[in-house]
Amino acid sequence: MFEGRDEMSLNDFFGTLEPERFADGNSYLIGAFANVGAVETGDGLVLFDIGSEMAGERIFHDLRAITKAPIHTIVLSHGHFDHCFGHRPFLAEIAEKGWQAPDVIAHQLLPARFEKYNMLDRYHNWINGMQFSSVLFARRKNPVSTEHILVPTRLVREGESCEFQVGGRGFVVRAERGETDDAIWTWDPSTKTVFAGDLFISSFPNVGNPYKVQRYPKHWATALGHMLEKGPDFLVPGHGRLISGAGRVREALSVTARALDFVHDEVVKRLNEGMWFEDIYHEVLAAYPDEFKRSPWLQPIYGCPEYAVHASYRLYHGWYDSGNPTDVHPPRRADVSRELLDLLGDGGVERLLARAEALLAAGSIDVAMALVDHVLLGAMPGEGGQTTALERAILLKVKLVRKRSTAEPSMISRNIYQNYVNELNIRKKSIRK
Ligand SMILES: [Zn+2]
Repeated sequence: MFEGRDEMSLNDFFGTLEPERFADGNSYLIGAFANVGAVETGDGLVLFDIGSEMAGERIFHDLRAITKAPIHTIVLSHGHFDHCFGHRPFLAEIAEKGWQAPDVIAHQLLPARFEKYNMLDRYHNWINGMQFSSVLFARRKNPVSTEHILVPTRLVREGESCEFQVGGRGFVVRAERGETDDAIWTWDPSTKTVFAGDLFISSFPNVGNPYKVQRYPKHWATALGHMLEKGPDFLVPGHGRLISGAGRVREALSVTARALDFVHDEVVKRLNEGMWFEDIYHEVLAAYPDEFKRSPWLQPIYGCPEYAVHASYRLYHGWYDSGNPTDVHPPRRADVSRELLDLLGDGGVERLLARAEALLAAGSIDVAMALVDHVLLGAMPGEGGQTTALERAILLKVKLVRKRSTAEPSMISRNIYQNYVNELNIRKKSIRK
């Protein structure tokens, strides 16, 4: 489905990239999981993000190999863990040298995000541990800590732009919504550079992330439009390599904005036609244009159009999304599956699993998975042959999920599949006990 996939690898996205100098020779991109932008002025450095806590030392080392200038200002593009928790080595240096503390510019809603993180710290560790299970956190108990935050000294209200000057150079920050409700991007007019934060991530945008709260596809497209209006020559994304050249930057921003608008507007059109989620989801994906599938800027290696349909629907609709009142006060699915297995009777479970195997062979993996689920949910270990049937169902589901995962370009989806396989393997061991 996604023909340009090879052009953008996961390492480009989450890469620890060699620092890159660009534009006037005083601008840098330092890539360490998330990117840090830096501009050296006569009065010190302006940094755009400060990375994750775990990448802080590396970022510090990379930056100090380039310049010893003190930090004048830090702009935080949003409050996610990978963009604004890498400051500790920098603060230690400031304390050691007796330098003045930097100005810290952020969106007005960023402090509320940090308060939320404090309230939900264990929960966030849990969901981030699942979302990033293949790349991070495997041995870390607390991947995100809000114990030591960089406190903003200047807040910018949503929709507002404000200018700041460092060393005779002006920069403009603009507060918008997109991946988060606390997004800021920065315009450096002297080099025509946009520092985008995660409003641009070198993948289909991370909108509709399955683990995370509401994100804002329409506002996001609008923010990209505001970047386009500046006519940038350079784009420093939140993740991925520097994008250089007015034509390439324009194409990257424009195709991403159009894809976000497309998914959002197609969902809205179908909401207005009185459609329910399942039909909207499949119809919008069937209509998703080849132009977007081919674009190297929209490869679904992290976010994907499927997630974007969810995000757009969830903006305007509540949780009752099927049109089937069974779902208003739903029974436990295990109770329904148990009834079904009882009805199938002797040999019925075997027939069901055999049918799922046949569907797998025919390439109908999603339907096969749904069939096997009845056995996983409804079989009672210890009853008749159901222990054996349950073990067979687990093996088959593992096979199905692994097969499904190999066709899946999104790292988040693949991690969901792999985490589930790990859980099933634990369950399998516990059955005979
Ligand atoms: Zn990020």
